[in-house]
Parts: sequence; C-alpha cells; structure tokens
Amino acid sequence: MDIVVQKFGGSSLASVERIWRVANYAAETHRSGSATVLVVSARGDSTDELLELAGAFSGDQFSDRTTREIDQLLVTGEVVSAALTAMAIERLGVPAVSLTGAQAGIEVAGKYGGGVISSIDPKRIVELLEAGNVVVVSGFQGTNAEGDMVTLGRGGSDTTAVALAAALDASRCLIYTDVDGVYTADPRIVPTARPMPFVDVRLMAEMAFAGAKVLHSRAVELAAMRGMELQVLSSFAPGAGTRVFEGSNDAMLESDGAVVAVTHDFDVARVLVQARKDLAADILSALGRRSIPVDLVARSGPSEDEFRMGFTARLGDIPEILAVLGEAIPEADGQVRVDRDVAKISLVGMGLLNRPEYAARMISTLAAEGIFTTWISTSQLRVSAVIERGHGANAVAVLHREFDLERAAAAAGSMTTA
Ligand code: ADP
Ligand code: ASP
Ligand code: MG
Repeated sequence: MDIVVQKFGGSSLASVERIWRVANYAAETHRSGSATVLVVSARGDSTDELLELAGAFSGDQFSDRTTREIDQLLVTGEVVSAALTAMAIERLGVPAVSLTGAQAGIEVAGKYGGGVISSIDPKRIVELLEAGNVVVVSGFQGTNAEGDMVTLGRGGSDTTAVALAAALDASRCLIYTDVDGVYTADPRIVPTARPMPFVDVRLMAEMAFAGAKVLHSRAVELAAMRGMELQVLSSFAPGAGTRVFEGSNDAMLESDGAVVAVTHDFDVARVLVQARKDLAADILSALGRRSIPVDLVARSGPSEDEFRMGFTARLGDIPEILAVLGEAIPEADGQVRVDRDVAKISLVGMGLLNRPEYAARMISTLAAEGIFTTWISTSQLRVSAVIERGHGANAVAVLHREFDLERAAAAAGSMTTA
C-alpha cells in the first residue's frame, strides 16, 4: 500500500471554505490511488484562544495539575479540525474517519505541554486505510501511561505527521502551510527573502530550533533520524515548495557563502540569576530534570561571594522555570530576574566556526543600525545573538542583506501566503 501523509496547519483550516479545500486535496490524493492520512492542527488561532481562556482561571502560577488541565483543553482544538475535515471529505464521496491521537495509537512520554512521542501502534489506521478510508488524525497529541492526553509543544502537529509517516512507512510526508516553502528568512518580515528549493535536514533542524517556525524542530530531528524526506508546500497555491532531506547542501563549495538563512525567535526570554554562591550546576540539572530547554548560557567567572548566570529560554517555560529556580536557590541567597523584552537572532549555515569573522560581521552590522547585541554564541551551524525585542524585525532584514541572501530584484516574485 502506497501511503501518503499530508499535514495541514491552522491557517489552512481557518474557514469553512478552507476546510473544503483541504478535503478536496485529500479526496484527490485518495482517488489517485494513494492511501491517505491527514494530520490536522487546530483551526486558525484557536489554540491561542483556548490558552487565553485557560489563563482566566489558571493565572500565572505553575503547577503540574494546571498543565494537565490545559492539555485536556488544548487537544480539543485539533479534534474539532479532524472531525470537520472528515465530514467534508465524506461529503465529497470519499469515506473518511477522524481519530484523536489516542485513537490513532500515539503514545507520549514526558510532561504535559511538552510530550515526546514514545511509540505508535498504527494498527487501527492501517485497518481503516485498507478498508478504503481517508484517515484524519488530530495532530499535536497522544496519551501517556496514565491514559491522559498530553500535547507535543507549540507547532507539534508537524511532529505527529513525521512520526506517523515513519510508523506507516509512508512514501511521502507533505507539510502544507500558509507559505509556499522554506525561505532564507521569514517572508513576512523580509519581503526579499528567497524561497529555498532544497534545505539540508541538519540546517533545517537548526533553523527550526532557532525559531523558523515553519517546521517544528522535533519533526525535523525525527525526519533526520528516520532518513525521511519532507516537503513543505503551500495549501493555497500550487508549486514545488521546499524539499528537506539529508545532504542537499553538501554541494556547497568552500567559496560559497556559508550562511543560508537568518532566523528570529521572538518567543524567548532571558533569565538572570544572581546569588552568593556558584549554583550553575544545581540550576542546570534542575532544569534538565524538568526537560526545560535553555539555549544561550552565560555566567560570570568563579568568585567567592558573587555568582551571576543567565540563559535564554522559551517564554512559555518561564512560569515553570521560576518555580524550579525558587526551589534551587535558597531564599535570601539570591535573586532571579526575567527579561521578556528580548529576541534571539541567528545566522544559520555550514562551517560557521571556521569563519569567526561571521560573528564579528553580525555584531558590527547590527551596531551600525544602533542595535546592541548582548550575548553571542557560535557553533558550526549557527551564530546567535540576543538583542532588544523592538529591533528584531530590522535586525533580521539588515543581516539578510549583509549576508547576500536577498533575491535578485529582477527575479523577485511575490510570495504566496494566506
Ligand atoms: P502552520 O499553522 O501551517 O503550522 P506556522 O505558522 O506554524 O504554520 O508556520 C508557518 C509560518 O512560519 C509562516 O507563515 C512564516 O511566517 C513563518 N516562518 C518563519 N520563518 C520562516 C522561513 N524561514 N520560511 C518560511 N516561513 C517561515
Ligand atoms: N495547534 C497547535 C499550536 O498552535 C499545534 C500546531 O499548530 O501544530 O501550536
Ligand atoms: Mg506550525
């Protein structure tokens, strides 16, 4: 059985007319002879709306009991999309069945709001496909060992799609979204960004981790681990989109520009800790135990009576981080400050550590615009800096120009977006 997995994001399902469009895609794929599995996200901004609603009752306090309830709430967004899409496909004359993550056999480990798919039993999906149905799976969710619903982190429906494609040994995994592929920068911020016909999966993983939310970072990591090619396409316009696979940038020559994209992450905060003794190991291991990812980490050198440390983390993780730090730092022994007015800007490319001048160019280009970079970190695939949030969009645009990523004016076409 030739199986195709097609994932549709929230904006692709935001209206009745758009759901019909998705249903038509699925019906066409089914009629062309492929067993079709759709993975759908919550419609439009409904996840944000549910979170806002939850905030009216949960407040800012972090507790495991609250995050459990938030997950019970959030999964409903995807369930609504799946049921509506299945009904639309059925009306087009193709049998369709919707499944929640649990019904689709998706098991998740880890914490509420940040689950990781641990196993998939695809038996029910396979039976439904063999019986001639299109199967529409609610993305972003699965059940844990207690049978509770757990979500996979913002943007996690992409990961559901890749995990299902791997479990079903699908021939294709197509991610339909509201832009027509992966660009050299977010095309909504940099209108001259160029579409990338191919992206190496390692670079894509780095871009996603650094904030290019067109793909969920764990989806890309999973695709890399399973050697699965992904295609990013527009659900609004035909086109070849972007193919993400291993080795697609290996042909890059030493002389080629090493930077392939500029990404931004506005969903970050900077946490600063000041204490009387060195707590770095305690803090990092406490965060590690709770599986809270931190990125740029800075600390002052050892000194008898003063310890300073800072790191960037996801905004959504801040309530939990404050709870963890509250336990790790003995009261009256230190203080914690959170700066939410920051952005993380990154150059992504190959062999960046071999070209230390890139970090220098990044700092001086931004400085020439009056943008002060506070923290810098470099690796072979990424140079990241923290700047003031208000300068974020301008910083991406000037770096995109500085590293020659602009599309040639003559060749410029307009981006297709929702
Ligand atoms: P979906 O709801 O389909 O999952 P997302 O909003 O999660 O869509 O991701 C698509 C968005 O990612 C685009 O609308 C675009 O603004 C943003 N984006 C950020 N960086 C990039 C990039 N480098 N290339 C393309 N899109 C990007
Ligand atoms: N609906 C979820 C979110 O908004 C998951 C997703 O869109 O992939 O993050
Ligand atoms: Mg997404």
